Amino acid sequence: MHEYSIVQSLLTLIEDHAKRHGAGKVQKVVVKVGILSGVEPHLLEMAFETFKEGTIAQEAQLHLIVQPIEVHCHTCGATTTFPKASLFFECSQCGGSDLELIAGEELHLMELELADSSRNGNHRGEDRERSN
Ligand SMILES: [Zn+2]
Repeated sequence: MHEYSIVQSLLTLIEDHAKRHGAGKVQKVVVKVGILSGVEPHLLEMAFETFKEGTIAQEAQLHLIVQPIEVHCHTCGATTTFPKASLFFECSQCGGSDLELIAGEELHLMELELADSSRNGNHRGEDRERSN
């Protein structure tokens, strides 16, 4: 399955990153999935749950951010967002079809929350909570 190979490369990326930062484990993984990326979010979750066993990310929670399609209109300059894929898109402002896709195809690792299991140094992208 497509999602399986994506998760395997994702886990490789995560392990490399964790090693470089000397982290003992990964607590949270945030991935942005574009609607046009060809990836099914629930299949990606299932694949992650399967493959994370035995890796540095085995206790990690996966959070998916689904990125809708965004197009830029060359005719009027407006940006239109579409929540799902369709065969035909038109600008919501002028109805034009001279559009450029600006978002929706991506698959990005957005955030990784790492923890050092032996020492107290936490490596976080954001310090949104303190461990007690
Ligand atoms: Zn337009």
